[in-house]
Amino acid sequence: MSDTLFTRIIRREIPADIVYEDDLCLAFKDINPQAPVHLLIIPKTPIATINDIQEDQRELAGHLLWAAGQIARDLGIDEEGYRTVMNCNEHGGQTVFHIHLHLLGGKPLGWPPYTDVAKSG
Ligand code: 5GP
Repeated sequence: MSDTLFTRIIRREIPADIVYEDDLCLAFKDINPQAPVHLLIIPKTPIATINDIQEDQRELAGHLLWAAGQIARDLGIDEEGYRTVMNCNEHGGQTVFHIHLHLLGGKPLGWPPYTDVAKSG
């Protein structure tokens, strides 16, 4: 897999506002925040998409969710709540092909309306 900009953030070749790091993952502020809190939690091992998570990487994938909970508690948004999202490929809106868990919070979050396709039945 070729380098993405997230690999370069892990290597500190590109600046990022890093809020959490451990041996398996890194979390930093999204450059284009969609909520008062908008972080990206990424594994230090590059994995292109959810489709590419291997059996022996299940624990690593789960670690990202565990880290989200830790970070949310550190930020004091755990009780009010927050959203985690991981986009996959074109229909999911994925633009950076190094898996990343979005952590969004700090305000009540809506849910996008499903209006673009005629509903039947
Ligand atoms: P995706 O659309 O792949 O789910 O999410 C990619 C996210 O990366 C977007 O929310 C975008 O704002 C964020 N992003 C893109 N380039 C950079 C960057 O250079 N630095 C940071 N911190 N975030 C970035």
